Amino acid sequence: MKQAKAQVKEAVKIKSNIYLLKIHSPYLAKKSQPGQFLHLKISSVILRRPFSIHKVEGNTVFILFRVRGRGTKALSQIKKGKVLDIIGPLGKGFDFKNNRENILIAGGIGVAPLVFLAQKLKGTKNLVLLGAKNKSEVICENEFKKLGFAVKLATDDGSRGYKGTAISLLKHILRTTDDGRRTTIYACGPKEMFLEISKVLKKYPRINCQVSFEQFMGCGLGICCACVIETKNGYQKVCKDGPVFDIKDIW
Ligand SMILES: Cc1cc2nc3c(=O)[nH]c(=O)nc-3n(C[C@H](O)[C@H](O)[C@H](O)COP(=O)(O)OP(=O)(O)OC[C@H]3O[C@@H](n4cnc5c(N)ncnc54)[C@H](O)[C@@H]3O)c2cc1C
Repeated sequence: MKQAKAQVKEAVKIKSNIYLLKIHSPYLAKKSQPGQFLHLKISSVILRRPFSIHKVEGNTVFILFRVRGRGTKALSQIKKGKVLDIIGPLGKGFDFKNNRENILIAGGIGVAPLVFLAQKLKGTKNLVLLGAKNKSEVICENEFKKLGFAVKLATDDGSRGYKGTAISLLKHILRTTDDGRRTTIYACGPKEMFLEISKVLKKYPRINCQVSFEQFMGCGLGICCACVIETKNGYQKVCKDGPVFDIKDIW
């Protein structure tokens, strides 16, 4: 991890409030692991803002983000050539070695870190469940297809794919497959989604599941404790002990 300046090679609007930044950084491209994040200085806000490493191609790292408030609004207006002040890579990412069957679950913009993970997974059977409010909010479908993943969509209004949440779809899939002995689930999205996953997995204790939290954060370095969550092992810092946790350590 280090603090460094890196230049934006391209800034692309993907959908009405979703943006992609391509950042040139041989250091970050080499050192980053799926599930880790970058802490970005954005001039209009005091605290840095955390963003997952969306994917890595050559010497370029990508950030995919949704505009939420002042910081992300300012970030969405950044143009090609701008030099960013970045601390990273930070945090503990996904443990993804030696899995044969993988199910990735994305709730909305929670898809951001899962593409980088998909780039690294060598499993024989890879599936991603993309949850969105409606068909116009589905993102990264083709990215996963290009990486050889089977893609299933779940939309709240049923405008594409399964009508319902990605977790009801998961329940359905697990009911109709084997006991999931060799399956690992990786998920990113809202905390409520993780809680639903943990309820489903009570029936399938042999399935491993890792979840990546998007908690409000202060320093990002494990000093300020603004991002702590309660786990079975006491309070833990999302920035340093996470953002990826084993779901069984939380619920
Ligand atoms: C490890 C980590 C990785 C992340 N990766 C991504 C990513 O890849 N792409 C992405 O779009 N976002 C990601 N986030 C969330 C992102 O950091 C926040 O959206 C961003 O900090 C909001 O800044 P802002 O100034 O625009 O909003 P603020 O002005 O700070 O807040 C505006 C509103 O947005 C909501 N909000 C802000 N932050 C969060 C949050 N963390 N969780 C839930 N609601 C929030 C609050 O309701 C708030 O009222 C990540 C967060 C963490 C901790």
